[in-house]
Amino acid sequence: MQFSSCALILQRENRLHLCCVAALIALIILVATPRIPHSPNQHMFADMRNFLGVPNTLNVLTTYPYLLFGVPGLVFCLSGSCFGISLKGEIWGWVLFYSGIAAAAFGSAYYHLKPDDDRIIWDRLPMMISTVSLLSNLVIERLDERVGISCLISLLMLVFISATFERTFDDLRLCMIFHFIPCIAIPILVFLFPPKYTHSTYWFWATGFYLLSRFESLADMKVYSIDRYIISGHSLEHLCLAMLTFILTVMLWLRSIKISRDY
Ligand SMILES: [Zn+2]
Repeated sequence: MQFSSCALILQRENRLHLCCVAALIALIILVATPRIPHSPNQHMFADMRNFLGVPNTLNVLTTYPYLLFGVPGLVFCLSGSCFGISLKGEIWGWVLFYSGIAAAAFGSAYYHLKPDDDRIIWDRLPMMISTVSLLSNLVIERLDERVGISCLISLLMLVFISATFERTFDDLRLCMIFHFIPCIAIPILVFLFPPKYTHSTYWFWATGFYLLSRFESLADMKVYSIDRYIISGHSLEHLCLAMLTFILTVMLWLRSIKISRDY
């Protein structure tokens, strides 16, 4: 009841304030931090081994689980019968999420075959679209459909603005902010607002795998040396993000409506 009130207040009175505060925080971070230009080191990965003539083989191959889980998810969403999705806004959100994941299989593999400044956008853009879709889905199911759809449209616009910002000004800050938004926003939404569906603990597992993927990405070489140069942190990051997709697919498959929103 307390959580419902909290959601109600946020939905009706403070949603504009919340957006302004989020935009202000992003602006402060942007102004307070130095510009982060592209660096050649950014394209140097711990595991750059070539097997059977495929450059950066493991970093390329580990993107294909995205396709393995992204395409069935997309098909199930579009068929509209297998998944626990009850609102139209949610269908668009999940379709965009799975489309982004499936597209990331090609975009990321293309980038890792020859990592450079020109190709990195194909690695980043599909994943950013998936991330903001996921966040918007959570807003739709925890708060309100219209708020979630507005959130989805605004965040998609921000994704394209940040990609253009990165290319035009050679500055990675906005893209980096996007990487950390889900780490903060998803746990807050899950903790503060009541689930509309059953099996909501899967969101925690998904967040855990997202955090693990970020850690593995940052500790690429460290992880590679710890596992005796079998698989690098970056390749494991790809597998973690595929696992996150699998977990959310299982959640959608199993869940059913727990409470109905009457506001
Ligand atoms: Zn990658």
